Amino acid sequence: MNNFDEITEVVRKNNNFLITSHINLDGDGIGSELALYFILKKLNKNPIILNQSRLPGVYNFLPGSNKVHYLEDNCIDTKSINVGIVLDCSNVERIGKTYEIFKDIKTIINIDHHKSNENFGSLNYIDCSASSVGEILYELIKSINLDLIDEKISTCLFTAILTDTGSFRYSNVSSKTFEIASYLTSKGIKPSLIANNIYNRKTYPGLKLLGEALLTLEVNESNYVSWITITRKMLNDAKANDGEIEGIIDFATTLNNVEVSILFRETKDNKIKVSFRSKGNFDVNKFAGKFEGGGHPNAAGCLCSGKLDEIKEKILSLIFSDIKYQE
Ligand code: AMP
Ligand code: MN
Ligand code: MN
Repeated sequence: MNNFDEITEVVRKNNNFLITSHINLDGDGIGSELALYFILKKLNKNPIILNQSRLPGVYNFLPGSNKVHYLEDNCIDTKSINVGIVLDCSNVERIGKTYEIFKDIKTIINIDHHKSNENFGSLNYIDCSASSVGEILYELIKSINLDLIDEKISTCLFTAILTDTGSFRYSNVSSKTFEIASYLTSKGIKPSLIANNIYNRKTYPGLKLLGEALLTLEVNESNYVSWITITRKMLNDAKANDGEIEGIIDFATTLNNVEVSILFRETKDNKIKVSFRSKGNFDVNKFAGKFEGGGHPNAAGCLCSGKLDEIKEKILSLIFSDIKYQE
């Protein structure tokens, strides 16, 4: 693994940077992209953010959210890019179609906190003990000059940390996480304002979808596994969009005694996306790896091809036997 000085050296020597993160962008992905964008600007560099996925509406309050580019904009002069920076992605497939552009960039910096990271960069900085890439970027900035952090950058980093820790509830929270959050708060941000923007601006279709999704909730006999299913028909009937599925799995996790919760959902392109959350020792990153997915020990996912019912049956029977084996 490389250190911060090696990364800073590459930043110092180059001018044009392309930043990206994973498909189905989340708060850590967008918050980290924007924080890095503003830092590079302050260092007199030319950063561009390029994503496959449109920004989920809840993040449009973030400073710079209107500066994100998408592939279909066709606006990137790829030849001028010196360095690609990939954030919060365990492998290059996770960046989706933007790989078409990143594959031609000579120098790739890979900054991530996933245990399953494949070290695909020319430079790699992976810290699995960090709650979020936001936390790693804070440390990176600290190694340059902490005074670079202003209110805008604080807002972006705080959003990254807040969302990836489930509002400071997950097992990835450490005393360092709170120290960083405290420093960011001292820069004039209002945590309650950020939380309101992210969690209290649900749409009516989004809440209707939550209601329909909860009606599908099932648990196994021992109450250790709970699961929710969301079909395209449910999304269409509620007039909700895919971004509004974010957070629904957390309701399945809140059930008393549940160790693992699962969300099965049909994607726009006829695949089945499966999300896993674990409250205890069951390592869902390892389990998702059986289906070419990954993530963290307590939050992971995979993308499957096939019929919804068949995939559900396969995954559920495997998880029941794995949990039994663990007992
Ligand atoms: P999600 O269920 O999409 O919220 O993802 C939970 C965690 O697992 C996040 O850290 C994702 O980056 C990771 N993850 C989700 N799907 C995949 C996948 N197909 N491959 C690798 N990591 C994934
Ligand atoms: Mn992420
Ligand atoms: Mn993350």
